[in-house]
Amino acid sequence: MSKIDIKSMTIPEIKEFLTTLGEPSYRANQIFSWLQSGVVSFDEMTNLSKSLRAKLDEQCYIADVKIVKRLESEIDGTVKYLYELHDGELIESVFMKYKHGYTVCISTQVGCRMGCSFCASGIDGLFRNLTASEMLSQVMMAGRDNGVRISNVVMMGMGEPLDNFDNSVRFLQLVSSEEGLNIGLRHISLSTSGLVSGILKLAEYNYPITLSVSLHAPNDKIRSSMMKINNKWNIEELLNACKYYQSITGRRISFEYAMINGVNDSLDNADELARKIKGIMSHVNLIPVNPVEENNYKKTNDNAIKAFVSRLESKGITATVRRTLGADINASCGQLRRGTVKEAD
Ligand code: SAH
Ligand code: SF4
Repeated sequence: MSKIDIKSMTIPEIKEFLTTLGEPSYRANQIFSWLQSGVVSFDEMTNLSKSLRAKLDEQCYIADVKIVKRLESEIDGTVKYLYELHDGELIESVFMKYKHGYTVCISTQVGCRMGCSFCASGIDGLFRNLTASEMLSQVMMAGRDNGVRISNVVMMGMGEPLDNFDNSVRFLQLVSSEEGLNIGLRHISLSTSGLVSGILKLAEYNYPITLSVSLHAPNDKIRSSMMKINNKWNIEELLNACKYYQSITGRRISFEYAMINGVNDSLDNADELARKIKGIMSHVNLIPVNPVEENNYKKTNDNAIKAFVSRLESKGITATVRRTLGADINASCGQLRRGTVKEAD
């Protein structure tokens, strides 16, 4: 029998589980608090009886991540982690220091099946989904390892969070729980490549998180050349989903746009982008593409990026260029894992 992932459980679920063990349900709050404080064994739960600890240990496991590699940027203190999961799979996380607090970028899947042409995470496809507890453990480890309280989370590491919908939503519930890490939903961003069905479903939860949409192109011809998902849901369908999401949540949408030399970075592209997203309360984040070995993409140069920003602004669209953190440690996700898996081959 496989063991139960108790760290992914909510308090009511732990209560129900305790009832099946013939234990009083009020212990659930204590157990939840221990789990959310980052303990790695039931023996650390010192206010529980020895017999209850033994029962829990027999039936459950406590998810954790093990640091395999830790790369710290000398420029800005960004730390990139390669973690091993209980089954030997590898994932990446990034810890960043911003003026407004400490932020962790977490992975939501091992690999990704979306196969975007510019991204290292999707090259080998999807291995498996992460559990909510594995997402939480990334946040906890970054806090523990750096001795700080994490105040912001971005779900922008490896994987497509909306392709792992239930676990991602469960993670949001757990990480924002007052009895747990208590990171407010307003301090969390979820990034999606544009799974329209997932965006519509997420809207129903009406969470005050920031939805980041990886748009990357102003028209279907360019977007389909970069992102397979665009063949399933095109830009019009995606933007309609964004409008619907906004009508429910009232939240500003953040559009991600990786600037690739000669592909999507002309001033005509800026004009077309501005036309398409006009009417959506949004912010455009421009990111100079991080070249990966497997493609020939090159970054747009700084002057061309500035011109692109000005053109968007002249059309009433707010845009900023994402500050590159950890430039010396290759902090963009997917690259460290691939490097390591390749070394091991
Ligand atoms: N799967 C989700 C979240 C993870 S990717 C998504 O695609 O949105 C997080 C962000 O990094 C996305 O905006 C993605 O498009 C971007 N990204 C991936 N590879 C990149 C690269 N090589 N250079 C710049 N941005 C990249
Ligand atoms: Fe997956 Fe996002 Fe990478 Fe696309 S950009 S392959 S959706 S992780």
